[in-house]
Amino acid sequence: MVHPSPKKDFQVAVVGGGVCGLACAIALHRAGVPVRLFEAAAKFGEIGAGLGVGPNAVRALDKMGLLDAILKKVNPAELKARSFSFYEGLSDNHEAFFTYPTLPEDKAIGIHRAVFLDALVDVLDSSIAYFNKRCTSITESPTKPQRLVIHFQDGTTHEADVVLGADGVKSSVRNFIVDGPDRRLAFSHTVAYRGLIPWSQLEAAGFKIDVSDHPVCITGPSKHFILFPIKDGAVINVVAFSARYDIPIGVGEVNEKAQWVEAVSKNVLFKEYEGWGPDVEALLKCMPDKPGKWSIHVVHPPLESYAKGRIALLGDAAHAMLPHMGAGAGQGIEDAYFLSRLLSHPETNTDNTEQAVLQVYSRIRQPRAQMVWEGSRYAGRVYDMHGPSEPTAEGIRKDLTDMYHPVWHHDMEADVERAVASLRDSGAFTGSSQ
Ligand SMILES: Cc1cc2nc3c(=O)[nH]c(=O)nc-3n(C[C@H](O)[C@H](O)[C@H](O)COP(=O)(O)OP(=O)(O)OC[C@H]3O[C@@H](n4cnc5c(N)ncnc54)[C@H](O)[C@@H]3O)c2cc1C
Repeated sequence: MVHPSPKKDFQVAVVGGGVCGLACAIALHRAGVPVRLFEAAAKFGEIGAGLGVGPNAVRALDKMGLLDAILKKVNPAELKARSFSFYEGLSDNHEAFFTYPTLPEDKAIGIHRAVFLDALVDVLDSSIAYFNKRCTSITESPTKPQRLVIHFQDGTTHEADVVLGADGVKSSVRNFIVDGPDRRLAFSHTVAYRGLIPWSQLEAAGFKIDVSDHPVCITGPSKHFILFPIKDGAVINVVAFSARYDIPIGVGEVNEKAQWVEAVSKNVLFKEYEGWGPDVEALLKCMPDKPGKWSIHVVHPPLESYAKGRIALLGDAAHAMLPHMGAGAGQGIEDAYFLSRLLSHPETNTDNTEQAVLQVYSRIRQPRAQMVWEGSRYAGRVYDMHGPSEPTAEGIRKDLTDMYHPVWHHDMEADVERAVASLRDSGAFTGSSQ
């Protein structure tokens, strides 16, 4: 691929090549912003699980010109408005609580994570990506004080004007945003068991709930299941959650060296969901022999700012959240879109990135992502029958009504316009482009 001619007098380094870092680097590169991407692993990679991409994330991907690449990898008809059905997990009648109403324009997709990542990698100019580059620290350039030097574990360095940390929940870049040793990392006291199961196998096992074309939530006390179809309905992504509500998020030590993902015996699952209805029993029998168990960690307490100096965070590095609205990656994708629009704006230059542009990014994106963070925690509480209303079908229906609306229907263009207006008001943008 050919590099577009650079339109900027500054260079950006993106640290971390997960979905958010990749999306951001591609969008910046396409917009003519000189950018390099540094990934710690030897190659791009995603786990074997599904990813729900909600309507807001679909729109952001479309605006970045990335949706077509994704739709090339799947049956494009899979992108559609979907209902979301809720079932009672402990009973044996499995009657739906309700089906969440969606508008026809609320198109979403369930996709295998590796397929999603591959689609992005396909459209990345490979010459901007560097592997085995684990960022360990960031310092000021000794010769050009306005520039930053990224230090990597292999002893090499890279100099850039702006560093964007997309290095996930355990972010090393976050150390340079928060003051002091506080990592803002907390265990959510929620674990998730994940598996991919062929739909035909589930049906054959006697699983009666139809999940072949829309997501389903099976609710129960302090536990729930989320199921959604991928691969055109041939495979079902299953996530079984189990949470503790007696310990608040943030209480307890976080051991970053411990395994946050481990393979466990299926017996652990049978024990966790003992006494649940026959559908859950059938489902558990179909789970892989050694399902993965995720100890879900989140960024908490929330960061006051996603930017400091010429460093900014996006994706899980900034706002890793509970996954109960299937919206964490979506928020990182929105970050990527917003950053690409602001950094490629004709009036953004090396003098105004630090004090103005990255600060505005943070001011506008932080409250939005934090709202989704809180919404995701709330959604989990409701699915787990710890919502504000009584733990009945009617209570859950009441607590969930309109919950997804603010997540799915956000005007990203208005955010960009607001940012530009604020930069004009502050004098950072003067109306004349470089
Ligand atoms: C059970 C579960 C289900 C979920 N389901 C959904 C869903 O359906 N929909 C949704 O939108 N979200 C979902 N999420 C959230 C979603 O997975 C994350 O929000 C998303 O993957 C974050 O992407 P990221 O690019 O910010 O970080 P990551 O995917 O963590 O990528 C970070 C990258 O940075 C690299 N890296 C790390 N450290 C360094 C370093 N020091 N230097 C250089 N590179 C580094 C890593 O190797 C990695 O490639 C779910 C999460 C969980 C736990």
